[in-house]
Amino acid sequence: MSVTTRFAPSPTGYLHIGGARTALYSWLYARQQGGRFVLRIEDTDRERSTEESVQAILDGMAWLGLEADEPPVFQTARFDRYAALAQQLLDDGHAYHCYCTKDELETMREQARADGRKPMYDGRCRHRSDPVPGIDPVIRFRSPDEGETAFDDLIKGRVSFQNKELDDLIIARGDGTPTYNFTVVVDDYEMGISHVIRGDDHVNNTPRQIQILQALGASVPIYAHVPMILGEDGKRLSKRHGAVGVMSYRDEGYLPEALLNYLVRLGWSHGDQEVFTRAEMLEHFRIEQVQKGAGAFNPSKLNWINHQHMQNLDPAIVLEHWRWHLDQAGVDLANGPDPIDVIKSQRERCKTLVEMTEKSLFFYNEPTEYAEKAVKKWFKADTQAVLTDLLERFRALPEWTGEAAHQVVHSVAETRELGLGKVAQPIRVAISGDAVSPPIDETLALLGRERTESRIAKAIDFLNARNAA
Ligand code: GLU
Repeated sequence: MSVTTRFAPSPTGYLHIGGARTALYSWLYARQQGGRFVLRIEDTDRERSTEESVQAILDGMAWLGLEADEPPVFQTARFDRYAALAQQLLDDGHAYHCYCTKDELETMREQARADGRKPMYDGRCRHRSDPVPGIDPVIRFRSPDEGETAFDDLIKGRVSFQNKELDDLIIARGDGTPTYNFTVVVDDYEMGISHVIRGDDHVNNTPRQIQILQALGASVPIYAHVPMILGEDGKRLSKRHGAVGVMSYRDEGYLPEALLNYLVRLGWSHGDQEVFTRAEMLEHFRIEQVQKGAGAFNPSKLNWINHQHMQNLDPAIVLEHWRWHLDQAGVDLANGPDPIDVIKSQRERCKTLVEMTEKSLFFYNEPTEYAEKAVKKWFKADTQAVLTDLLERFRALPEWTGEAAHQVVHSVAETRELGLGKVAQPIRVAISGDAVSPPIDETLALLGRERTESRIAKAIDFLNARNAA
């Protein structure tokens, strides 16, 4: 069987991480099976669908690298197909026009309630042959009254429904527009979807969708209903729990690799392995092994995983993602060291790309002021002399290397009988504006001779001015 999976979000908000996980599972399954993965934008609810959220979904999928094999399909472009297949069901006797008025339906519901029955449409228009003047009829699917509809869910196992519990679903409204369950069915059918991997909030729709597929003469796909994601408090994950839109994870400095890794583990495991590259996910993920229960979101674990990927990934890939942050911060990479070298030097101590940006700005931007606290602590009365001595020795170096610069720092400390920190810290303040940076040899090597010397000279001027005042 050739495998086609789909991700079918409704563009009524941003791509949240629950959706992203469903998309990831569908994508992984298609890729593992050498199949196709398609994106379908379920935008028929015109009131709630927005352009921005379509864009957010496309951006999110692109950022995560979950590329589809074809351009996205928009349901609003397919109304003629829904109408054609609704007509086919009418012609074949699987569907019928229903002329019931609102009042009639309300009376029906009240009666059911009074009798202690579940309110369901009683099928009274199944046999009505004459149109009712003045009423635009809806189209209802004639669902079987007896037996059961069952499917073997790859995650939940066998799921079955009594057909008598399912009433005749409206597939097209009076104005001809199709309803949700019908568009899903038509699309799954015509897009050749072999495996429907989606959130388990759709389990109850599945028997109806299966019945309609069968009436259309379509083969029934295999279903895998993925449990939802809970917040740390055990409640369904929502905006209350903080960032849930995929792009806000980018903004906060996470790597897509890390978010995917985190999401794949939320509801699935492979021994005690925590860190997965994309290739490892593709190798080990099994949709059948996804756990039945809901997984809970744990932000500190995401941080840990992000840090792992920051350290393990090819720095060139880290840079691809870091660039966005550097652009946001207005950094001009031409004003400083090769960012690949900065990544190598910084990534051990930065958990996110945002942190790496903050801690690396000084390489590219000369400090415009010194942090007050750092000045108090490290720019002492003798600092001007220490830095002057240091600058002279730097200028005398035949060649600028991290090691040579470090040697100078050492010897200045030695001659002046100072602890190493009393020399290194003022240098940090002079070159970065604050007292934190990677090891001084790495920092000086990265910053380069010219920038180091001119920043130290500036700090000396600053100290001179201060001493004179
Ligand atoms: N559009 C639906 C949703 O966003 C998904 C439908 C489906 O996957 O069958 O919940």
